[in-house]
Amino acid sequence: MRTRERLVQRLREQGISNEAVLDRIRTVPRHIFVDEALASRAYEDTALPIGFGQTISQPYIVARMSEALLEGGPLEKVLEVGTGCGYQTAVLSSLVGKIYTIERIEALLERAKLRIKELQLRNVRFKHGDGYEGWSLGAPYDGILVAAAPLSVPESLLAQLAVGGRLVMPVGGEGRQQLLRLTRTEEGVTREILGAVSFVPLQSGTIQA
Ligand code: SAH
Repeated sequence: MRTRERLVQRLREQGISNEAVLDRIRTVPRHIFVDEALASRAYEDTALPIGFGQTISQPYIVARMSEALLEGGPLEKVLEVGTGCGYQTAVLSSLVGKIYTIERIEALLERAKLRIKELQLRNVRFKHGDGYEGWSLGAPYDGILVAAAPLSVPESLLAQLAVGGRLVMPVGGEGRQQLLRLTRTEEGVTREILGAVSFVPLQSGTIQA
C-alpha cells in the first residue's frame, strides 16, 4: 500500500489535483492488470508491456487524461477507444455514469473484461472492434477518451461527441505527438493542446483471438 501512496504523491507533485482521480489511482490495484512477472513494478510511474506489442499507459497519463476529461462537469456516457488491459477503464468507471470501451485486439479485450468483472465494476460495456469508427450504440457521448494516436482526429469520433462534450486524445506520428482536448460547442469545436505525449499508434482493422 505504501508504494501506491508514493505514486499518488508523485502524481500530485506533477500537477494532478483532481482528488477523485487521485483516489482512484490509490484504490485501483494496477498490479492485477499486468503480468505477474511485472507486478512488482506496477506502482512505478511507467508504461509496461501487456503483450501484442501494446502497453498499459503510464499512471501519470491515465490521471492526466481522466482529469482533462472530467474538467467541465460530470459525464454520463463515455466512449473509450483502446481498452488495452482495462486499467484506464477501471480508473474512470466509478467517476462517470457509464463507459463504452472498444479494443481491436480480441485477446486483450477478453482479459480486460475478466479484470473489470473481478473488480465488480458494473457500468462498463465492451466491444471488439475498430475504434476509428466510434461506437454508435451510446452516441452522442459527453466524453471520449482515446488511448492510441492517429495522425489526425477521426471525423467519426467528433461526430459522436455531444454538444458540451470533450474528446481527449493523442494525435501525431511517432516522436511528435500532442495530447489534445477538443470540446464541441453550439458553434463548432474548440481545441486545446495539453502537452507532448508518447502513445502506441491507433491502427485500423481488428485482430481475432
Ligand atoms: N488505457 C490502456 C492503453 C492501452 S494501449 C491501458 O492502460 O491498458 C492502446 C490500446 O489501443 C492497445 O490495446 C491497442 O490495441 C488499442 N488500439 C489501437 N488502435 C485501435 C483501434 N483502432 N480501435 C480500438 N483499439 C485500438
